[in-house]
Amino acid sequence: MTTLRRFSRASGVLLVALLAVVAAASAPAQHAAKPPKTVRLYVFDCGVIKGLDPGLFNFKKEELAETELAVPCYLIVHPKGTLMWDVGAIPDTAFKDDNTPVTQGFFSSTRTLKSQLAEIGYAPADITYLGLSHYHGDHIANSNEFATATWLVRQVERDAMFADKPPALSDPKTYSDLKNSKTVILTTDEYDVFGDGKVIIKSAPGHTPGHQVLILKLAKTGNVMLAGDLYHYPEERKVNRIPTFEFSKEQSLASRAMIEDYVKKTNTQLWIEHDFAANSKLKKSPKYYD
Ligand SMILES: [Zn+2]
Repeated sequence: MTTLRRFSRASGVLLVALLAVVAAASAPAQHAAKPPKTVRLYVFDCGVIKGLDPGLFNFKKEELAETELAVPCYLIVHPKGTLMWDVGAIPDTAFKDDNTPVTQGFFSSTRTLKSQLAEIGYAPADITYLGLSHYHGDHIANSNEFATATWLVRQVERDAMFADKPPALSDPKTYSDLKNSKTVILTTDEYDVFGDGKVIIKSAPGHTPGHQVLILKLAKTGNVMLAGDLYHYPEERKVNRIPTFEFSKEQSLASRAMIEDYVKKTNTQLWIEHDFAANSKLKKSPKYYD
């Protein structure tokens, strides 16, 4: 073997070794849980909202069975990837440690979202997609943690979030990193997240300009809609009163009528995210709906 050939073989081995090191370094995090065969929905405890004036929702206290509002966060695990839907009222960075309650204004929480994700084998960096029902402060607190995910948002909502004058009832510093996230602008009424019709984001504007709901077609549980803030209290659904702080009351009324028609036609359970009594009966992570 000539010196030249020996040299080229040695450098070839070196190159293969080097590529292996690079591949290992860029491989996905080892702790990401194995994808399931069917879609799963995990419900996390992201706290509660206490002490709001029911008048904000055009209700008297005595008209409501429960004035406290639940704040859930959700992880959808699909065979092809993961979607975080709504990310809480209190950022994980505000916690000293888990189980020490944190209160910020009307919001309080006892657990970080990150620790609840870790319990089922995920870190924020593992998450494929981020979807927010809307930009209000009780749905967005951990957005920056998911800036490496692909953000699924409507143009009008994104424009409002990054306008010179920040939107009301929001907290731009908690989502500032999304400005540079890989982003898919949703332009259709329904957006099929994984391409198989099992996880659909549907436009339902009014509460905010680009408010949206999430529809899941689960194998055992059936069709479930996570309805964002289309409603807050179950009583709203019966009398159809609109909160005082809507972006557009007309749009909210139209969205409610459209969604009620949709859930009837498609035999879909509508889950009011903030419904305290309904939420308290839900299975919480690490249990899941499938
Ligand atoms: Zn809300």
